[in-house]
Amino acid sequence: MKTIIGTSAEEAVCWLKRGEPVALPTETVYGLAAPLFSEATIRKIYSVKQRPTNNPLIVHVLNFEQLKTVAETTPLVQVLTERFWSGPLTLVLKKKPCISDLVTAGQASVAVRCPQASLFRQAIELIGEPLVAPSANRFQHVSPTTAMHVLNDLGGRIPYILDGGACTFGLESTIVSLLDETQPTLLRYGPITAEALGTFLNRPLVMAKDVVSEQKPHLAPGLYKKHYSPQTPLYLVGNLADYVPPPRYKAIFEDRAAHVFLFPPSRPLREGECVLSPNRDLNEAASNLFDCLQTLDTQDWRSIWAEEASNEGIGRALNDRLSRAAYVDLRD
Ligand code: AMP
Ligand code: MG
Repeated sequence: MKTIIGTSAEEAVCWLKRGEPVALPTETVYGLAAPLFSEATIRKIYSVKQRPTNNPLIVHVLNFEQLKTVAETTPLVQVLTERFWSGPLTLVLKKKPCISDLVTAGQASVAVRCPQASLFRQAIELIGEPLVAPSANRFQHVSPTTAMHVLNDLGGRIPYILDGGACTFGLESTIVSLLDETQPTLLRYGPITAEALGTFLNRPLVMAKDVVSEQKPHLAPGLYKKHYSPQTPLYLVGNLADYVPPPRYKAIFEDRAAHVFLFPPSRPLREGECVLSPNRDLNEAASNLFDCLQTLDTQDWRSIWAEEASNEGIGRALNDRLSRAAYVDLRD
């Protein structure tokens, strides 16, 4: 199949109506979209991505009114969505009966978010129903933040990529479960920080890691340990500037190794070294992480060495993605 990159929401929707999933830009990462009520197209998402069907999909709605058609809402859901939607916050709620098991992996809950990106919103409006969309990459690969990333990973498998430029946030949405409203639970770190949610809710969130052991694997969504991985092995360290590897990693560290710095080091950069945030801003670093990994992955490096961020705010989401991308975690 020939894959076209274009800028027309109408053309993207035309393919959706013909039963073909298409890649659409959101403010987080590029999504591979299908209409919520088209099971045949949704099945193609799983096969194009080679994603196991026990990994449920996020439903994208235009607004609170549309949310009410897919999930049970409560006063808490209403205030949270008024504050954080449209934007990178996904809520896990009790689903309405019309939602297929294919979307929820057979669960009684559904994950819903309301995208900010105007091209994605246009597509929902044109098709007239919510869209399901996981990230537009093959299972466990790095999520795409540009149309070219999608082409590199899914070219030949989908007919159309709607190009909206680079994604603003560049990391997947924050996921919060409200299935037990006495315990709002963070299932995935993302651009809406745990601190911001805790402040708004006036209590700390429960962290999924605390409850994971009690759940079956597919009920611990977004928590696959290995995920977001480049093909080149990634080594995660505390601080890269003056890093000294343990003896058994010395040879790897010295053999065509690429370096990913968070902020500019105090010496000039060498070939194969990149800086996630020239302006020393963790939000900028987060938005550049996947692009940097994708770029290094297309070059001829034997290993990638990256350093962790401070564990606060968006830094938690960055560290979460880095640790899942890591082949070896060498942090103390
Ligand atoms: P992505 O792979 O980027 O599309 O991320 C989608 C994430 O949302 C996955 O990790 C899913 O497991 C999670 N998710 C989707 N539906 C649900 C649900 N009903 N309950 C909990 N998590 C969900
Ligand atoms: Mg994904």
